[in-house]
Amino acid sequence: MGAHRLWAHRSFKATFPLRAVLVLFQTISLQQHIHEWTQNHRIHHKYSETDADPHNAKRGLFFSHIGWMMYEKHPEFTSKIQRMDMKDIENDCLVMWQKKHYLSLALLVSFIIPTLVPWLCWGEHLLNAVMVPAFLRCLVLYHITWSVNSLAHWTGGKPYEKNIYPSQNAVVAFLAMGEGWHNYHHVFPWDYKTSEFGGFTNINFTTLIIKLCSKVGLAYDLKTVTPEMIEKRARRTGDGTYKGPSK
Ligand SMILES: [Zn+2]
Ligand SMILES: [Zn+2]
Repeated sequence: MGAHRLWAHRSFKATFPLRAVLVLFQTISLQQHIHEWTQNHRIHHKYSETDADPHNAKRGLFFSHIGWMMYEKHPEFTSKIQRMDMKDIENDCLVMWQKKHYLSLALLVSFIIPTLVPWLCWGEHLLNAVMVPAFLRCLVLYHITWSVNSLAHWTGGKPYEKNIYPSQNAVVAFLAMGEGWHNYHHVFPWDYKTSEFGGFTNINFTTLIIKLCSKVGLAYDLKTVTPEMIEKRARRTGDGTYKGPSK
């Protein structure tokens, strides 16, 4: 909701309190600070499935899942990333504050607090307190996040655009709270729903949270796509599996 839908794609706007909470949650996830996450994600969209894409799915499932962090960056990526426009992110004081203090903040909220709370509050064994809420939690969440770059670029339907790798992957959508409807997302990246649909029934929990936040005034200017535009695009470039406009 924060790093991806708010900061990387600017698909909605958020008030200061909501941005503060999202910065905190993003720090807990231990996936690098928002500035770097956003930069990597924007280049992934702009140069999908090319050498400038940090997790180029054309280099295989393993590379797009985890291998891309083990290799030296491709020169195409290194040259393109320097030219990415990040001014909007650099104007966000909360994001830049997180970047400045990232190491100490991440250690505190991702390792120290999750370890100390079960250890001190209910006498959990120290080893369990380190291994489960700190390490195992990160490990599981990493694999779920990486599945968007690997599985959702590898298998699933392509009702909106058949000539790209990103696919509609329900398993990833379920695990990543709505981020697996990736064929739609790469075609309409500015839609805050990251899919044609939203809510529980269509496995898009994050969309539900954004809607709730907009109801209470914490989120606003939610960007989306009209059903007519979606249908037109699906009929023109989809793989033929498109079921019809959302109602
Ligand atoms: Zn993608
Ligand atoms: Zn995206």
